[in-house]
Amino acid sequence: MLTGPQISADTVTAIVTDGTSGNLSERWTQTRHRIADLATQWGRLCDSVGLVAISKGHPAAALRQLAELGQRDFGENYLQEALPKQQELQDLKLTWHFTGQLQGNKTRAVAEHFDWVHTLDRERIAIRLNEQRPQHAPPLNICVQVSLEPEPGKGGVPPAEVLALAQRIVALPKLKLRGLMCIPPPRDRFDEQRVLFQQLADCQRGLIAAGLAVDTLSMGMSADLDAAVAAGATWVRIGTAIFGERHKK
Ligand SMILES: *Cc1c(COP(=O)(O)O)cnc(C)c1O
Repeated sequence: MLTGPQISADTVTAIVTDGTSGNLSERWTQTRHRIADLATQWGRLCDSVGLVAISKGHPAAALRQLAELGQRDFGENYLQEALPKQQELQDLKLTWHFTGQLQGNKTRAVAEHFDWVHTLDRERIAIRLNEQRPQHAPPLNICVQVSLEPEPGKGGVPPAEVLALAQRIVALPKLKLRGLMCIPPPRDRFDEQRVLFQQLADCQRGLIAAGLAVDTLSMGMSADLDAAVAAGATWVRIGTAIFGERHKK
């Protein structure tokens, strides 16, 4: 536990080398450095690429450890898992990102307990989130999920339908459209990954040309982080590279 205001180098090393939890700190630090290096490499400002730590499948204690190192943004995919963790971590000022598939009957809890939704792909869900967002809360930050290549069972709207949905969202006062998100089909090669992410960036340019004020590209996971930063990601969503492998659900 880091308690006092001073975190000495010795303390950090002790955490890093301490079996179970140690690797976590080390991997988080490495991921942060990797993102900063990539940003520099692609001529971008270091702080233009934010890190959402995707913490699904990992206990609240792991999130607390990262929060003590300075991680603020956490992404969760399953409400029944996220809500108890949020409760347990209430004393920390964390920013919560919903990154799972969003069903109609789950919107209220998301509207009440999250700051961002990365996976919006239906107007019906947008309307519900807008109605259910508490009056005292700031507008819920929204990314529209785009399916760059049709994949059965996966969420997202095709690029041709993004503008229409985006315009509906902009009209809803308790939502704030921030930009676009994608989970492209896995590709091994950097160039192939980058081409897909550039398609999302093109979609975003289309929204801007249509007069929408969007500033967010949520793209890049552990396996395609480099290509995402190259193509302009402003949030990368990293799970495995920080927390290690998840148990399969
Ligand atoms: C699980 C998940 C991630 C993290 O994936 P890793 O490969 O573990 O980094 C990112 N985004 C979404 C939407 C996810 O569901």
